[in-house]
This record gives sequence, structure tokens and C-alpha cells, in this order.
Amino acid sequence: MHEIEKYLMPVDPEIAAAILAEERRQEEKLELIASENIVDRAILAAQGCVMTNKYAEGYPGRRYYGGCQFVDVAENLARERAKALFGAEHANVQPHSGTQANTAVYYAALKPGDRVLGMNLSHGGHLTHGSPVNISGTYFEAHFYGVNEEGYLDYDAVRALARTVRPRLIVAGASAYPRVIDFAAFAAIAKEAGAYLMADVAHIAGLVAAGLHPNPVPYAEFVTSTTHKTLRGPRGGMILCQARYAAEIDKAVFPGIQGGPLMHVIAAKAVCLKQAQSEAFRNYQRQVVANARAMGAFLKEYGFKLTSGGTDTHLILVDLRSKNITGKQAELMLDEVGITVNKNTVPFDPQSPQVTSGIRIGTPAVTTRGMKEKEMELIARAIHYVISYPGDEAKREEARRIVRFLCSDFPLYSSRERREIIGPA
Ligand SMILES: *Cc1c(COP(=O)(O)O)cnc(C)c1O
Repeated sequence: MHEIEKYLMPVDPEIAAAILAEERRQEEKLELIASENIVDRAILAAQGCVMTNKYAEGYPGRRYYGGCQFVDVAENLARERAKALFGAEHANVQPHSGTQANTAVYYAALKPGDRVLGMNLSHGGHLTHGSPVNISGTYFEAHFYGVNEEGYLDYDAVRALARTVRPRLIVAGASAYPRVIDFAAFAAIAKEAGAYLMADVAHIAGLVAAGLHPNPVPYAEFVTSTTHKTLRGPRGGMILCQARYAAEIDKAVFPGIQGGPLMHVIAAKAVCLKQAQSEAFRNYQRQVVANARAMGAFLKEYGFKLTSGGTDTHLILVDLRSKNITGKQAELMLDEVGITVNKNTVPFDPQSPQVTSGIRIGTPAVTTRGMKEKEMELIARAIHYVISYPGDEAKREEARRIVRFLCSDFPLYSSRERREIIGPA
């Protein structure tokens, strides 16, 4: 990070210090937040480039500004790579975030007051799927489906709801659902109800790209995603859609809900989408899922309960009620030993969303650092020491020791540079 010291420190030492401290925090803590990842240096380079200087309202070949020939190269590459990776007819890579991508689809497909059917936030859905605190729940009439007692999506219940609600659009996708989502089933339900289907793969895009989770592109009119979660690109969003909706989607993003696109971020999205086509990336995603499975299995050996009993994806949802501890307490206690997770409601949670009865654990970031099943065993043991023995300082110190050992053995960047030289993990 010598660029920070060289160029930023003299100009703004406070921000430089905050960035360096954040770099150190990432280096010295175990990141288990399921929506986070560690981008490659190539992504950092593209995202920190001079394309940030360029205004490029419009789309490649039809901009409202001159001088766009090179940013057009970047956006065309990003679009073509996104289409190729997911088999989509059209891609819009301008949304600044996953939320912007979803909002643009709503803006394109719905009128205010239209009915939307999305997944209950407390069962694993996302704020943008109809929550009353989001535009999706205030401009549209939101209805919700959820999971059954076993923690699995209940497609019969979704169908029954779709029949009575008659939504204009159904959202399939989640932020805290550990199992495969059956997009074909959602498509059949949407078709019967005369609704559009929007699949939001923000969390699982990397797994989908690697062929480890069914791809919704053949089934959904609209597919939205972030680019920074399992996909391991820069922070941002994108929309994939069928060709017949391309013009509407493009108009909804710009000028509908956004102004000038972030061309430096789009350049970094193009890099990410290139990396996602590699065998190394597919191996990485396979390890992410293997690690999540391993972590879940080790935690179960220590008496933890998992929502749905396990996982098919990059994340597990730990139900802490059997340990007599809340999600909020667990998050704080784990943070204290250097393990970063987030509290999360579990289905039918008796606690409020600020307290919760669960934590969500994801493996994308630790897998990027190079960790495998053996290391998941150590992390599970550290989590067990902290949560199963509250107040036991010796156990807590042992957990800290595990974190220190893993972080120094699997550095944030140099380990990956080393692995790139010695070949894929
Ligand atoms: C993370 C997420 C989003 C929103 O992404 P942001 O970039 O944070 O706006 C949307 N949908 C789902 C399912 C997500 O998990």
C-alpha cells in the first residue's frame, strides 16, 4: 500500500491513517461476513484508475459526452463478459450497487402501487425485496413468502401466495439462505400468476458463474446482482435481462435512477468478469462451498444448530438458541477475539432484528486467503471456545491464538501472489 503513504499521507494524514488501519484490521482479523470478499490487486488497480475522471452518461456508442472511446472499450468488455459468463442476452453494468440494480428493475417493470412478492427479510430476504423501510416497500405493495420449519423455501406456500396476491413481479433471491434456490420452480409460479420473475443473485453470483448453483438466466426476465460478494469484484451492481427488455432496463438505469456511470468501477467489473471465466476461479468457488460445508459440520460437532441443518452454498446460518446466547452477544464476543461475523435473524426468530438469535457465517473471504477445510476446523474450534465457554479467559485466549496463527499463515495479499506463482489452490 505504498501509494497511500506516498500520495495520500502528505495530503490527508487522517484518511491515510484510517485506510492503513483498515488494511491492518483486514490483515489481522478473520472475515466471516458472508457478503464480503477480498479483491485481487488487479481489481484494486482498475478501480483506482483515471477513468474516475470521465463523464460518460449514456451507453457505449451513444454517449452524451465526447472523449468516451476508451471508457467505451471498458464498458463493452464488461457487458460482453457478463453476457458470456451467465449466458444472458443483455447486460447493464452501470448500477452503482445491488440496491440500484433492483430499484432500476422495479422502475422499468412496475408502476407505483403494483404488487410485489418477495422473501421475508427475517427469513433471509433483502431490504430491497419489499421492506417498508426501502423504496421497494413504500412505492409498491409488498407481500412476503418465507421458509418452512426446517428452514427450506416452501414453494407450495409461494405458489399459494402468488395465486391470492396476484403480484406483478416476484423476487427470488436472498441474503441469508444457505440452500439452493429453485429458479425453475419460481419461474413456473410466476408464469401461472402472470408475474415477472426477478432473480437477485447478489450473494451467489460467483457460485452461479462457476456452475455450482443453478443459473436463473434461462428462467427469469430480470437477473440482478452485486459484483462484490462471491463474484469477488469491485463494489457495484449489474442487471442481466432478455433482449426484449434491454431498452427498458437501460433507460431505467440511466436516465431513470442514475446519472453518470462510475467508469473506473466498470473497468474493474470487466476485470472481475474476466477472472470469473478462469479455471482458478471455479476451483476457488468449489473451495468456498467445501469450506462452508466443513465449517457447518465442525460446528455441529460442537453442538451448534444450523438453520436447515447445513448448507449448499457459501454461508451457514447458526441458530444460537441452544447455546443460550443472542446473535448480538455472539457478534460482540467473536469480534473481541478477532473473528468478524454478523448477527442475523433465524426463521421464526423470537428476538428483534437488533438482537436476533443467530449469526451468519460465510467462507468467501477466508477462502480467498487460501484457507481450506483444515483451517475451517480451527475457526470452528475458536468459535466454539468463545461461545460455548463465555467468561472462560483461557479459552478466549486460545481462540485469539488461533486467529493470530491463521492470519499470519494466510496473509491478505502475499499469500495469493504466492499461490498465483505456484498454481491454483
Ligand atoms: C447485498 C444484497 C443486495 C444489495 O447490494 P448493495 O450493493 O449492498 O446495495 C441486494 N440483494 C441481495 C439479495 C443482497 O444480498
